[in-house]
Amino acid sequence: MRDERGDFMCPECSSTETGLMAMVSTLFDPEVPWSGILQRITCAQCHFVIPAHLAERWNGISVKQARQQWREVYRADAWQEDMDRLGEDEEE
Ligand SMILES: [Zn+2]
Repeated sequence: MRDERGDFMCPECSSTETGLMAMVSTLFDPEVPWSGILQRITCAQCHFVIPAHLAERWNGISVKQARQQWREVYRADAWQEDMDRLGEDEEE
């Protein structure tokens, strides 16, 4: 199994600034694309929560493919994190 990962790039705004990475556990539901996404990265710029396999382009998919999947599959049900709230946990 290949485990290629690129550098973070947001398929929404093209930012390369990584925000928070989250590992979640979900109940898989074939009707809900997000239910299969266990690693999620919040973009530091637009604050959208992005599936890690698209943000880091696992298995060598192109930026274009990642954007396409993001728009066609995940974006409709995507959400944006409130970074002010999240920032309270950081020391700086
Ligand atoms: Zn972004």
